[in-house]
Amino acid sequence: MSDNALRNTIIIGSGPAGLTAAIYAARARLEPLVLAGTTPGGQLTKTSEVENFPGFAEGILGPKLMDAMIEQAKCCGAELEWESAEKIERDGKNFAVTIGGGKVLKSRTIIFATGAAPRFMQAPGELEYQPPKGSGVTYCAVCDGNFYRNMPVIVVGGGDSAMEEAIYLSNLCKEVTIVHRREGLRASKVMVERARGRKNIRWELNQVVDEILGDGKKVTGVRLKSTQDGKTKKLEIKGVFSAIGHIPTTGVLKGLVDLDEDGYIKADERQCTNVPGLFAAGDCHDRRYRQAVTAAGMGCKAALEMERYLAEQH
Ligand code: NAP
Repeated sequence: MSDNALRNTIIIGSGPAGLTAAIYAARARLEPLVLAGTTPGGQLTKTSEVENFPGFAEGILGPKLMDAMIEQAKCCGAELEWESAEKIERDGKNFAVTIGGGKVLKSRTIIFATGAAPRFMQAPGELEYQPPKGSGVTYCAVCDGNFYRNMPVIVVGGGDSAMEEAIYLSNLCKEVTIVHRREGLRASKVMVERARGRKNIRWELNQVVDEILGDGKKVTGVRLKSTQDGKTKKLEIKGVFSAIGHIPTTGVLKGLVDLDEDGYIKADERQCTNVPGLFAAGDCHDRRYRQAVTAAGMGCKAALEMERYLAEQH
């Protein structure tokens, strides 16, 4: 399709939400264009084995799963460009999307599925021991907890996510140490009580991760630093589960769409935003579940609603 043509839909993002939307939109013969970004495949390309995506009894590597989704979207007829949306504006009832080099694409609808990125601790070793470079640093207990069965691990953070991750891991791991930078916990009382009730959960309050230690491939421990007196100590652990919040990738929508106070897109149960024709799916909208399978489900809903919206416009 030529660059000047008015498209039916542009899907922004190429994780499970965006690619599922692309598969549905392509099968509806709507000729979707996916702006796949510079790292196609989203967060799953940074995990190792995925064991909880239905259909893969023996698990599948995250990058392999995403390659398969990209291939499927292409086979169904979706067009993919390795570009990011730099600006999105309303153009009457339609949308104008600016990509690299100032090129402007026009579309009747947008499905926004750019995901969210875990907030990093910024500790030395954090990048080195993340897949695919190394192993031991992760941001999702449900995804990766199983690889740390009967091992000692830490969970970093004092919010509900950290409590939830720690409780989940306490069923699998030998010992879970919660590392939090303050004495007070941001998490709800009920979650804290539940975590406190687990015998194999330890607490290291007023501590931050000063450095993640390892053998060059795998994590072997962490050095913690007191936020009160600066003293350091080492813990021998095998896994670091960071749960210090996520940052939705929605900067480009500021001023166009209603976002909540943390930048997540507000959308209803049909994935509709407050802007007619603009739909949101996956982690850029969902702060609660953040699973590949829930993101894919939202991508499907967004595409079906987009199709219905287009039919109503004609
Ligand atoms: P959050 O509530 O923002 O908590 C983030 C935690 O990480 C805080 O304890 C914060 O410390 C700490 N933190 C932030 N930056 C840090 C840094 N650079 N170094 C060390 N620690 C840092 O995030 P969340 O736990 O992901 O929860 C997000 C939202 O989802 C919340 O509204 C939560 O209630 C909700 N949620 C609910 C459930 C549930 O109900 N089951 C489960 C998960 C999430 P400080 O406290 O010192 O700022």
